[in-house]
Amino acid sequence: MKITINGITCETAAGQTVLQAARANGIYIPSLCYHDKTGVAGKCRVCVADVEEMRGLQATCNLPVKEGMKVNTRSEKALEAQRLVVDLLLSTGSHDCIACEKNGNCELQDAAYYLGIEHPGIQYADVKTGLDESSAFIRVDRGKCISCGRCVAGCNNVVVNEVLDLGWRGHETSIVFDTDSLMGESSCVQCGECVQLCPVGALIEKKAIGQGRSWELEKIRTTCPYCGVGCQLYLHMKGEQIVRVTGVEDGAPNKGRLCVKGRFGYDFIYSTDRLTSPLIKENGAFREATWDEALNLVAKKFKKIIAESGPDAIAGVSCARSINEDSYQMQKLFRAVIGTNNVDHCART
Ligand code: SF4
Ligand code: SF4
Ligand code: SF4
Repeated sequence: MKITINGITCETAAGQTVLQAARANGIYIPSLCYHDKTGVAGKCRVCVADVEEMRGLQATCNLPVKEGMKVNTRSEKALEAQRLVVDLLLSTGSHDCIACEKNGNCELQDAAYYLGIEHPGIQYADVKTGLDESSAFIRVDRGKCISCGRCVAGCNNVVVNEVLDLGWRGHETSIVFDTDSLMGESSCVQCGECVQLCPVGALIEKKAIGQGRSWELEKIRTTCPYCGVGCQLYLHMKGEQIVRVTGVEDGAPNKGRLCVKGRFGYDFIYSTDRLTSPLIKENGAFREATWDEALNLVAKKFKKIIAESGPDAIAGVSCARSINEDSYQMQKLFRAVIGTNNVDHCART
């Protein structure tokens, strides 16, 4: 079907909302609480528009498209309402964009820019504050939280860890972990889904703080090296340095989700303790060896064990970080060449 948004004819599909139709047609409507993965929340009221033959302003995130619908997101009334909400959010929180890690990649900042808001316009005495640095990998800054609920929906419905909620009331409304614990003392598993969904700088990867602005970073898509699930992720690189890791939202199998290892466990690649050659233990101490020397030693010892005790005296444990094809070859080697079914995989740890 066809609808008109701001005078532009848009092709839409039944079941879409006006906001989804606008995005699919490259039309920006400021919106803070909707995310494809967490769905319609109808909370922030920033995405309002005038719609012909409908009374009052409509939230486009939960308005289904109808053939011939005429939507105006830039009428005087719609813009005034959008500006008021964004201004209130800016005025009641601690939004110091220059110092904020989210600068350049913040949906509230984008909305303010689009609406021409240069400074918070309302003098508000009791601005929100509240840092929680208690967890290993995530900094919580409640002063920047706009109570959009995306992290709550993500934690409960997407990764189903059921840690987060919105607690308290009115201006006191805040995200809470479990029964209002510090994040580091809660049942949070530090998967970081909430960080990925947060539209502002309220949830930030600690390791990324001060490491680089969003416009300085190059995004490189790759596969998580930790396990056979093969989650798709982006390395956000500043030169040779990883600043942060995010999941690829439109990529199977993880659709943006990552576990704590994939999202935060990347430092090991810079460790000087990494082994760069095989080691052989002689007289109680390791010495470096060539691959040929190490493999010949292993083959010699396997043959000796098989000759003395039979093939079932040996077991093969494949590495969880190896690719599926390598694990397949490992079990083939043990079953067909060595002659044992003792094969396993260390991912069960
Ligand atoms: S969260 Fe966004 S609007 Fe708030 S300070 Fe950070 S960049 Fe600015
Ligand atoms: S890190 Fe994961 S488990 Fe912890 S609050 Fe965020 S989404 Fe929930
Ligand atoms: S922490 Fe972020 S995602 Fe969660 S409610 Fe606040 S602004 Fe929204």
